[in-house]
Amino acid sequence: MKYLITGGAGFIGSHLADSLIAKNNKVIILDNLSTGRYGNLAHLTHNPGFKFVEGNILDEKLVDKLVDEADGVFHLAAAVGVDLIVKKPLESMTTNIKGSEVVLEAAHRYRKKILITSTSEIYGKNVNGPLKEEDDRILGSPLKSRWSYSTAKAVDEILAYIYCKEKGLPTVIVRLFNTVGPRQTGAYGMVIPRFVSQALSNKDITVYGDGKQSRCFLHVRDVVEALVKLINTEEAVGEVFNIGSQEEITIKDLAERIIKTTGSNSGLIFIPYDKAYEKGFEDMQRRVPDIKKINKLIGFKPTVDLNEIIKSVVAHIKQDSR
Ligand code: UDP
Repeated sequence: MKYLITGGAGFIGSHLADSLIAKNNKVIILDNLSTGRYGNLAHLTHNPGFKFVEGNILDEKLVDKLVDEADGVFHLAAAVGVDLIVKKPLESMTTNIKGSEVVLEAAHRYRKKILITSTSEIYGKNVNGPLKEEDDRILGSPLKSRWSYSTAKAVDEILAYIYCKEKGLPTVIVRLFNTVGPRQTGAYGMVIPRFVSQALSNKDITVYGDGKQSRCFLHVRDVVEALVKLINTEEAVGEVFNIGSQEEITIKDLAERIIKTTGSNSGLIFIPYDKAYEKGFEDMQRRVPDIKKINKLIGFKPTVDLNEIIKSVVAHIKQDSR
């Protein structure tokens, strides 16, 4: 099969490309290299099943051509990272809403199966756990960047869902919870690469808020295996799936564990959210996925625990800085 991966030079997209190629598929990558890096794909350059196109998902003609060439589409291109969304809200909204519409329209034109990547941000401030796919979204004001991002991704889900229901387009929606691993950069806010870099250089670890907020981190390898299985599973069409780990940790405990793992001399510094992001910023206090649905359909289970995840990020950052 030949798959188009939008956003394929990014952290998750590049691992997906690796996995598809390892399974003897061909890939076409469309990426504007805004947050993605060609370096994430450089090792595939001479692979006959690999094609890279630098371009934007808002370029309808280009998207049309590439979707036509492919047998199926993984739509990952998006403005991601809380920090980036807060700093560039307009660009984020356009990419996330209009971009997805362009890609979905093209998939519909050529009747190509498409997997849309959504996010756990969908659930907003719902602190119940574990969160099931049909659970309520609890959001703050749409004038706050974080909630407008959540809303933009919800619009993507709605579009994918109704293209499927109304037009019969085979769409699969996934909600990615915190994903970590090699090639993720801390430049857009992501906590583990940031803490690891800080720890390795013995700088204070920047814990936002009181550090009591919690997250669950899944290794990217488990994420991409799930994506590939889902696009090949007929019963996944028209459905939405959480993908995440259930190993919950507070951000303060995470900081301490990273200090211990790296043998760092770093201390912790607590930074109020207003200073870290913007005035009035609201965080999710807890975010744990219910993963029964995806487990039942494709047998999904995380295979890499948090200690291993931290070690893999440490190894990657050390190697990158050489
Ligand atoms: N965070 C932190 N220090 C940092 C970066 C992030 O304390 O330098 C916190 C952030 O406020 C959030 C958690 O770590 O509570 C996870 O942040 P990330 O941006 O990785 O993902 P999110 O779950 O917010 O999408």
